[in-house]
Amino acid sequence: MGRLEGKCCLISGGAKGLGAAQARLFAREGARVAVGDILDADGARLVDELRASSADSLYVRLDVTSEGDWERAVDAVTEELGALDVLVNNAGIYHRAPVEETTLEEWERVMEVNARGVFLGTKYAIPAMRRSGGGSIVNMSSVAGLVGSRTQSVYNASKGAVRLLTKSTAVQYATEGIRANSVHPGVIETDMMQEVIRTEEERATRMSLTPIGRFGTPEDVAQGVLFLASDQASYITGAELVIDGGLTVQ
Ligand code: NAD
Repeated sequence: MGRLEGKCCLISGGAKGLGAAQARLFAREGARVAVGDILDADGARLVDELRASSADSLYVRLDVTSEGDWERAVDAVTEELGALDVLVNNAGIYHRAPVEETTLEEWERVMEVNARGVFLGTKYAIPAMRRSGGGSIVNMSSVAGLVGSRTQSVYNASKGAVRLLTKSTAVQYATEGIRANSVHPGVIETDMMQEVIRTEEERATRMSLTPIGRFGTPEDVAQGVLFLASDQASYITGAELVIDGGLTVQ
């Protein structure tokens, strides 16, 4: 029996990178998976792949900054998969610049996707989870939501917002059986990593700061998300799961 047997799960930004790894792992663990993204072709291809391995699966167009998209996506998931038990607020964008070099437009765009997106997802998931007697919300923060950086500003601010919104959600909905936890990956090998680490020198520096001695894989993060999503984490809410090979412990 899978660890998410029969659970109906929505993963935002699920078409590629960390979200796609979560979708594949969740499906292997018996979940019915809805992939929400703005990359329609990638999302549809992934859902075809999941269906081929007999997982009940659905692609929904979901721009996480749009309130209307969230309403429609949650409705589609509850109608077509039967309920909403798990939401992974995974979608996010990266931005690299110190404070003075960040424009107001860049600030607003990153906050819109990374912070507003998580707020809207949480807001629309809760009534649906209440109807099914509880649920689990897993929010993708970052080590950038825990510590400051020489090269990031709005990305830090947006991921810090995710971290604290998670704790308020945990406190507010615990008695209704709705849990909320945040995940804090370090450097993980996805397309986004190409933006985080730009030169061989940066790669070597970051590697030397990682005690485990390798960068993470999408599967490493998906295993943590799976645990928090599952009933095995039923006494865990408001927690921060750091998956960074030891980067931030020294
Ligand atoms: P990625 O760029 O490979 O994938 C991001 C996904 O989010 C894409 O499918 C993209 O289309 C989607 N997305 C972007 N804007 C969206 C929007 N407005 N609405 C819906 N979907 C949207 O990045 P990734 O590495 O897979 O990152 C996933 C999450 O993990 C992000 O929140 C990111 O900040 C976080 N994270 C990544 C790393 C890393 O090293 N890769 C580290 C820490 C945290």
